[in-house]
Amino acid sequence: MIKKTINQELMRTNNKAQILRCVKAKQVVSKRELTEELGLSTTTVSTFIRELEQENLILNSGIARSTGGRRSLLYQLNPDYCYTLGLDLQVDRIVGVLLDFKGDIKAEQEVAFQDRDEWKVVPLLKTFIHELLAAYEIPWSKLGGIGIGVPGVLNSEAETIDFAPNLGWKNVDLPAMLALDKPIYLENEANAGALGEVEYGLGRNVGHLAYISVGMGIGCGLIIDHKLFAGHLRNAGEFGHITVEPEGILCPCGNRGCWEVYASNAAALRMYAETTGNKQISFPEFLLKCQENDGHATNVLRTVTKYLGLGIASVINGLNPEMVIIGGKITNLKPLIFNSLLKEIKARALEKSFAGVRLEFSQLGNKAAALGMGSIVLAQITNALT
Ligand SMILES: [Zn+2]
Repeated sequence: MIKKTINQELMRTNNKAQILRCVKAKQVVSKRELTEELGLSTTTVSTFIRELEQENLILNSGIARSTGGRRSLLYQLNPDYCYTLGLDLQVDRIVGVLLDFKGDIKAEQEVAFQDRDEWKVVPLLKTFIHELLAAYEIPWSKLGGIGIGVPGVLNSEAETIDFAPNLGWKNVDLPAMLALDKPIYLENEANAGALGEVEYGLGRNVGHLAYISVGMGIGCGLIIDHKLFAGHLRNAGEFGHITVEPEGILCPCGNRGCWEVYASNAAALRMYAETTGNKQISFPEFLLKCQENDGHATNVLRTVTKYLGLGIASVINGLNPEMVIIGGKITNLKPLIFNSLLKEIKARALEKSFAGVRLEFSQLGNKAAALGMGSIVLAQITNALT
């Protein structure tokens, strides 16, 4: 008897969760579509729709156009149910988006910083969070949670930052330092970027995606079979540290000749400094020089593109993805590098895998990771609700 009650309750929860997820996925859906899509009875769908409406999770958004039969009410998620913040902690700036419950972007902001000391950056992050909410006049009580993408390795519970080399952070308990009375979720920035592409970018409906985040290092976010692949210790995707030159330059990770030492933005700046003696140039300035056809910059770009392609070929050979998306400031140079990059990949990748992959440059600007973090929080909220 008790067992039966538990099963009934479980089925009830499942049905309600299914309806909520279906409304979320379809954005606007009629009662009839829900019935057909989920194979539930009209009575069951009506009961749960009423409950979800009473809980303010969904709202009626009109009537479906008649197709001969009875007209059917349309439903959508209530955008104002709650809001989430998706933040991307980069090495020189914080990028943030405010999402409503439907996942629509309500505000976006960024703030630059120079001092990377965690005791300077975390207070800035806290102020930024409040400012982003204020920009759209969202009361604190309406904030459902905060997701923060981090350029580094998290502990296995994804609760603290073990090591963020390019920020110089070690063992930083970011949620504790922020001390906010809201759920905070952390994720590696490349993983967050991959999720951002799946939810908002070119990776929609892509089941096997490698998102390659090219910054001062190189990180890869992997979507395998429509799911983020984090690895046994949440350390997967560190292709930036595969060896491409056995006797090569020492990498901050301790190995020699890592891919990111030859193909990252930091690599480009190092190579440019080696040939010109100019160590002061920033990466945006380097990009500008490339666009102006500066001889030294163009040579460096050629070398970096070659290494980028060689590493991507290995990613493709190892994972057989359906799509590879490159993210980071280097995407501004797409017209200059796309063909040579593709040529390099084609020359090195297995024919079958190359033929089946699409190479794309992110179209989300620098927001892929922030959007991914916002959607992680939304998914957590939806899962907890039902
Ligand atoms: Zn390394």
